[in-house]
Amino acid sequence: MLNHPIRPRERLVKYDQLRQDDLKIFHERFQLEENQCHRPCPACGEDVGEKSFEKDAFTFCRCENCNCLYVNPVPTEELLGTYYDGSESMEYFHREVLLPSLDTRRDIMRERVLRMKPFVNESDKILEIGSSIGIFVEAAQEQGWHPAAVEINTELVNHLKQEFDIPVYQGFFEQHQGLPQEQNVVVMWEVIEHLLDPERALAKAHSVLAENGRLIFTCPNVAGIEFLAIGPEHELIEAPGHLNYFSIDNVEHLLNRAGFEVEHYETPGILDFVDVMGAIPEDSESIGDRFLTTLAKSTSEADWAAIDNAITTAIQNSRLSGNMFVVARRMKHASIRKCA
Ligand SMILES: [Zn+2]
Repeated sequence: MLNHPIRPRERLVKYDQLRQDDLKIFHERFQLEENQCHRPCPACGEDVGEKSFEKDAFTFCRCENCNCLYVNPVPTEELLGTYYDGSESMEYFHREVLLPSLDTRRDIMRERVLRMKPFVNESDKILEIGSSIGIFVEAAQEQGWHPAAVEINTELVNHLKQEFDIPVYQGFFEQHQGLPQEQNVVVMWEVIEHLLDPERALAKAHSVLAENGRLIFTCPNVAGIEFLAIGPEHELIEAPGHLNYFSIDNVEHLLNRAGFEVEHYETPGILDFVDVMGAIPEDSESIGDRFLTTLAKSTSEADWAAIDNAITTAIQNSRLSGNMFVVARRMKHASIRKCA
């Protein structure tokens, strides 16, 4: 009952071993100055970050202006690309963690699409950034919507075209010159935490949206209770995959800078308590830890489900879940940076 349905623990242990091997190779190049970039805060743009902690030989800074947590320095785009394309751990993650959890991920996406419904009209032009194997496209089509996709990987582009018969724009979103314009909705699911320059991506989204169009996205919420409880050891605090760690307060700075205003947000995650339980060391001597692990081991599955349910509902209601869902409106007059 303590295993995570979309990130099974024993596979994550194996993934982490492979990742540590990949990181050794990565850091050989990353330690060279020409492969590093210093950057300001990805949320507010100020350069007043103070080192907060190190993890896996990456430095995590906390912005003194907006409290955003971010990796700095970051690798160059080219070096980051080699990590995504050539690393054994990423390949393992896709094969052994992502693919076996597809059904659960589909269910999560269907819920997400229902959450979007009040903000989407049936005739809206919808563009998804980073469509991967098309979990959102499938759920959107089930609603009678007609999404288009942006995807980098050639294999996935072909899959999306064949499987869903939709327009697919291949390439890096931020640099793409041939994207459709006057979109009503742009969606980005778990994208902005990975980006070297999220403002650039949001400015690009602004440029393809119609007036009053909406940007709808999800990302980790580091003001969530699981991040606050676990701290730097949280498994999603993981560079160079995750470079930006936002909360609703500082992501609002980012949105405003890119020409958006927040229309709605919530933290709908439902799995947080499982993460926290999984992070408790088996030999912990803390009274709170022993209380929780004894309860988890001793209660029936039904009782545990009831406890889990009550706690996750309380977390959602308090907007303390580890993932946030944000709807932002494109502002008409925005002094945004010109993007590529
Ligand atoms: Zn900041």
